[in-house]
Amino acid sequence: MRQTIVAGNWKMNASKETVNTLVMGILSGMSDVDSKVIVCAPAPYLSQVEALITHSQLNLGAQDLNVNASGAFTGEISADMIKDFGAQYVIVGHSERRSLYFENNEVVARKVQVALDNGLTPLFCIGETLEQRESGNMESVVSAQIQAVIDLSGIGAFKDIIVAYEPVWAIGTGVTATPQQAQDAHAFIRLMLAKNDADVAQTTPILYGGSMNPGNAAELIGCEDIDGGLIGGASLKAQDFLQICKAG
Ligand code: PEP
Repeated sequence: MRQTIVAGNWKMNASKETVNTLVMGILSGMSDVDSKVIVCAPAPYLSQVEALITHSQLNLGAQDLNVNASGAFTGEISADMIKDFGAQYVIVGHSERRSLYFENNEVVARKVQVALDNGLTPLFCIGETLEQRESGNMESVVSAQIQAVIDLSGIGAFKDIIVAYEPVWAIGTGVTATPQQAQDAHAFIRLMLAKNDADVAQTTPILYGGSMNPGNAAELIGCEDIDGGLIGGASLKAQDFLQICKAG
């Protein structure tokens, strides 16, 4: 039985005031949440969130990491820095990183490996664009994204990876994949993992991301191979996020 996981990706949306209000709001409604809940904050706010969530069941993640341990990499953050603020999770390969910052499958796979080497759990994002889906290439795109990690780290690495299937056309668009579309993609991902290792495939959490909200979360998370959600926009409103956390 896989535990439901709900992760919030705040992206580049935060101020000291909004972080305080958001985290306090989430904490106030956590008592009847069974899911594992993670908030992925922008790097400058990791310290603030760390202090706010002490002794709570809320978990902290970052949104990206550099593959180097330290040095002359202006603007970047390392795995050690992320851990220094008590974060145990890091989003890797988000579609915005892939498209806006040109991270290809090999770069993303290296980041996954560096996260694992440092004891961080990567939220490993994969997913196809609308053009790729409409041209019938969803499966080949997603396969290549996963295969890059298997090639570098081996299938066993997926014991410590959370996969997030995020169709690019559904991210931040208000267009959600239908439960059937999402379930089909998740089943395909699990089958690909199973072809490499059946046990790993059964335990790897696969989250759905793409305009998940309080109105559609229960149906999506209720699908056999959907183990929770990676939430962008709706994670910025405490009540919406909590409703999604309770849908699992
Ligand atoms: C995301 O950015 O990972 C995401 C799923 O965003 P949204 O929920 O806003 O579509």
